[in-house]
Amino acid sequence: ATPTALMVGTGRSAKLGVLIKNGDVLEAVNDVKTVVFDKTGTITVGQPVVTDIVGDQTATLKIAAALEASSEHPLATAIIKRAEADQVQSTAQLADFKAIEGKGVTATLDQATAFVGNDKLLADATISATLKAEMRRLQNEAKTVVLVGMNQQVIGLIAIQDTPKATSQAAIQALKERGLKTVMLTGDNQLVAQAIAKQVGIDQVIADVLPSDKAAHVQALQKNGKVAFVGDGINDAPALTAADVGIAMGSGTDIAIDAGGIVLVKNDLRDVVTALELSQKTFDRIK
Ligand code: ADP
Ligand code: MG
Repeated sequence: ATPTALMVGTGRSAKLGVLIKNGDVLEAVNDVKTVVFDKTGTITVGQPVVTDIVGDQTATLKIAAALEASSEHPLATAIIKRAEADQVQSTAQLADFKAIEGKGVTATLDQATAFVGNDKLLADATISATLKAEMRRLQNEAKTVVLVGMNQQVIGLIAIQDTPKATSQAAIQALKERGLKTVMLTGDNQLVAQAIAKQVGIDQVIADVLPSDKAAHVQALQKNGKVAFVGDGINDAPALTAADVGIAMGSGTDIAIDAGGIVLVKNDLRDVVTALELSQKTFDRIK
C-alpha cells in the first residue's frame, strides 16, 4: 500500500463521517468475512423505555428506582425516568449497593435484600408461574425484562423496549449482499436478541454473553476469517480490540472510541458499508 493512496482513502472517509485511524485498518477492512454487532446503542437506538410493569406496580417501581438511582446502565435510566413520570418515590434507607456486570444490581433496602436484574442474578430466587409466563411473553415481544425482588422473592417485572435504528436493517442487508456474515453479540436474553435480530435480518445470534466473554466469542469467529466488531459501550472495548477491525459508534463511550480503529461519526450502520467501499476503492487502485 502506498501512503498517498491511503491518505486519499482516509481523507475522503473523514468527510463522509467515517474516521479511520490508520492505513492498516483500512486495508484490513477489505478482508473482513464476518461483521459482529453489539445490540444496545449499536443496532438499536440505545434509549430504552419502560413499556410494562407486571405485579405490584408501585412497589416494583419503587424498589427498582431506589436501586437504579446508583447505576448508570441504560436500563437504569429508563426505570428512573418512568418512576419520575409516575411520581413514585422511595423513602427507604439504601446501603451496600452493588452493580454486578451483565446481571443487575443489589442493595440493602430498609434491612431487606433488594435486587433488580436478569435470571443470572436471580438464579436462586422464587418466581411465580404467572410472572414467569409473563416474562417469556414480553421477551418474545423483543422487550428486555428485569426482575425486581426482595429477600429472594420476585415481586414484579419491568419490561423495557429499545427499537432498532431506522437504518440498521438496510445496513445489514447491504453487508449480506456483499457476502458477509452478520452476527449479534449481546448480554441480553436469547429471546429478546432473536426478536431484534429478526427485525433487522441478522444471520446469527450469540446472547446471554457476560461482558468478560465478548472478546473470546470474537476470537472464536476469527476461525472463519477476519472479523469486524461494531460496538459502543465500555463493555465492548475488549471485543473492539480483539477484532481485526474495531468499529466504534461516535456516540459511544470514550473507552470504546479509543479501542476502535474506525469511528462512525453519524452512528449509522450503513457507514460500515461506506468503510468497506473506501477500502475496496483504495486497495484496488494501488494493487
Ligand atoms: P449489553 O450486551 O446489551 O450491553 P449488558 O452486559 O450491559 O448488556 O447487560 C446484560 C443484562 O444484564 C441486561 O440485559 C440486564 O438483564 C442485566 N443488567 C445489567 N445491568 C443492569 C442494571 N443496572 N439493572 C438491571 N439489569 C441489568
Ligand atoms: Mg451497547
